[in-house]
Amino acid sequence: MKYERTSITPQEIDRQLELCHRIADRLGADGRRPLAMVDTYGCQQNEADSEKLRGYLAEMGCGFTQDEFEADIIVVNTCAVREHAEMRVLGNVGALNHTKKAKPDQIIAVCGCMVQQEHMAEKIRKSYPIVDLVFGPHEIWRFPELLERVLERHRRVFATEKNSGVVAEGIPRQRDGKVKAWLSVMYGCNNFCTYCVVPYVRGRERSRLPEEVIAEAEELVAAGYRDITLLGQNVNSYGKDLGIDVDFADLIRRINDIPGDFLIRFMTSHPKDATEKLFRTMAECEKCARHIHLPVQSGSNRVLRAMNRSYTREKYLEEIALARSLMPDLVLTTDIIVGFPGETEEEFAETLSLCEEVRFDAMFTFIYSKRVGTPAASMPDPYTREEKQRRFDALTELSNRISAEKHGAYVGTRQRVLVDGETGREEYNLSARTNGGRLVHLKGDPGLVGQFVTAEITSGNTWALYGKAEEDG
Ligand code: SAH
Ligand code: SF4
Repeated sequence: MKYERTSITPQEIDRQLELCHRIADRLGADGRRPLAMVDTYGCQQNEADSEKLRGYLAEMGCGFTQDEFEADIIVVNTCAVREHAEMRVLGNVGALNHTKKAKPDQIIAVCGCMVQQEHMAEKIRKSYPIVDLVFGPHEIWRFPELLERVLERHRRVFATEKNSGVVAEGIPRQRDGKVKAWLSVMYGCNNFCTYCVVPYVRGRERSRLPEEVIAEAEELVAAGYRDITLLGQNVNSYGKDLGIDVDFADLIRRINDIPGDFLIRFMTSHPKDATEKLFRTMAECEKCARHIHLPVQSGSNRVLRAMNRSYTREKYLEEIALARSLMPDLVLTTDIIVGFPGETEEEFAETLSLCEEVRFDAMFTFIYSKRVGTPAASMPDPYTREEKQRRFDALTELSNRISAEKHGAYVGTRQRVLVDGETGREEYNLSARTNGGRLVHLKGDPGLVGQFVTAEITSGNTWALYGKAEEDG
């Protein structure tokens, strides 16, 4: 494939940084440190994008707050995957009327996937006059330029033109934690599952160059991060657009070669591209966590076809069997959509039976949400909301039962876990993750945060494991 994509040049990023410093002078003119608030909805990719927005805001001299009345700049980074997320955003943006009234100079920006949809950008334009700046996911790299336009011209700015996407390196980043880090390896999606809005709002697949990814991974390890999650909408497609001989498994192997004690995780994998090479690489790379999130979406072949998922129930089961034969301790999680247009009771029963058969460690279940402009939005959808809710409840019950059984099997075992934070609770004051990513609540010295320790698991329920830290692992 010809190597063709829009890369933002380092000079352009330098210009954005210069603008940050100009904005810093303007915002700090009264000698007071400006405060910013970044509110993030949706997936890990959005979390990673918000780290870039905060990186730029820090370059503008901003401190950070969670109090919207105190903030001089509010950025709401939105999600469009389901209607529920959009409703929450609109409700919360509407509530900012109060803060803007109290603080008329406050700048309110709404960015991300929701506003990359034309009808949503229009809605904000017409019904939310308090919003000063609206920009889609492809414009994050030029947030300083857009913000400066708002400050200079005192008028609303909208930057949500259709765009198949860019790759921008060198944007500063203010990371959320000190133990776990997100590392985007690619952006966009080419799969066009019929229910999904992501390919329309996040553009075509663009992989970062392997040397950029490796350099960032090395920086993270040197900075003491112990848990690195490689991000992409479909990470197994990594490299296909680059026209060089590198795929996702090769990338894992190269990151695994970086010296240091750390874990490599990744999400999300698409079953149609999850190869034997990927599973073998996971099994052979000692730093690669024994966890795969492999969204199946449905157990019915007819529904999978209607969803344009490009695999069958049988192919999925074969893949899992292969992965488990190579990694017997593999933790397997999934996403499932209930109530896809026209899904019958029998077809839903096939999803239940698949889940019984696979016994996922955890399942993320969603009721189908109609997305404007997607093919599924115009498919006949005869089942009622109540019917779908009933199916959803049945699936949740099954999922909870299996997760509790799976967690029960850890009781009495010793697990090497990474302590990733404090919970603020007295009894179990630390949170940790097993190699496979299961949540463990521990009691122990807060000094253990950021360290691998061995934990004896004493109990478990649907959502978590509980244990005692034994010793440095
Ligand atoms: N790229 C990832 C996930 C993207 S969205 C993947 O393909 O796995 C995360 C999950 O949201 C999806 O796996 C799907 O289960 C769910 N989802 C996406 N669109 C949806 C919709 N319109 N309604 C309900 N759930 C949806
Ligand atoms: Fe959406 Fe499918 Fe792409 Fe995942 S693979 S982002 S579900 S279109």
